[in-house]
Amino acid sequence: MVAIKYEKFKPNSRIAVLTGAGISAESGIPTFRGEGGLWRNFSFEELATPAAFQKDPVLVWEWYNMRRDICGQSEPNPGHEAIAELESIFSEFHLFTQNVDNLHARAGSKKITELHGNIFIGRCLGCNKLTPLPISNKISNKNSIQNLNENEGPPICDGCSNMLRPHILWFGESYDTQMLDQAAEFLSKSDIIFVIGTSGNVSVPVQLANLAINNGAYSIEINPEPSSLSKRVDISIRAKSGEALPEILKKIKSSI
Ligand code: NAD
Ligand code: ZN
Repeated sequence: MVAIKYEKFKPNSRIAVLTGAGISAESGIPTFRGEGGLWRNFSFEELATPAAFQKDPVLVWEWYNMRRDICGQSEPNPGHEAIAELESIFSEFHLFTQNVDNLHARAGSKKITELHGNIFIGRCLGCNKLTPLPISNKISNKNSIQNLNENEGPPICDGCSNMLRPHILWFGESYDTQMLDQAAEFLSKSDIIFVIGTSGNVSVPVQLANLAINNGAYSIEINPEPSSLSKRVDISIRAKSGEALPEILKKIKSSI
């Protein structure tokens, strides 16, 4: 088996990390295509779209309320924690996540770009104002946000009284171009990239990873299964990220 070349890690190395749903699997959050990816016979693709929200906002909010509850009741795992610690070792570090579950931030990561948004934020359809959403209906401060209970319908903006939508990038929607430009700038000059827990089925995150790889970054995948990026990376670690990352972190610390 090929081993990670720890000698590549220097204190001034620029480190990029790209994560997907797999990093949160050990926290109990279902991945996109794995078991638990279905809800009331709907798939992610049928619910996470502007058309689905237009057709039935109550249904889509119910689904997000349920997912937000799962995320809020889950805890970051040793994989999230190792990534947060990695950030504290390298001054040039950035984490790009496809996840919306907020677990990286809860583990202590600070330099994060949430490529697909955050499930704990609502965005007003009228004025675009962002509103934090409570972790769980059951433990929420009902005064802080109106109408979050599924029986009462979608939440409402306290500024202009329009409906909120989840602050999530849905299928068919465009990425924020400024965010992508900044990501491209960082990734194209990265020395090392970790690609963790992503199947590589969403094209923009794959393009971002490829940007680093094409520009010579040393690339390490961590995923128990092969992904669309496996053939492109320098090394694939076939293991769960919550188990592999703490070990890798230890070895990085002892080699720099
Ligand atoms: P995906 O579900 O397509 O792929 C998950 C990948 O994780 C798979 O390749 C799988 O082999 C791997 N995996 C499973 N268990 C793992 C573990 N313990 N350690 C490491 N890897 C493991 O996920 P994706 O590529 O992120 O694409 C899904 C899309 O759906 C994203 O756009 C994301 O925004 C969204 N999503 C987010 C969450 C979340 O926020 N936690 C959950 C589901 C889906
Ligand atoms: Zn508003």
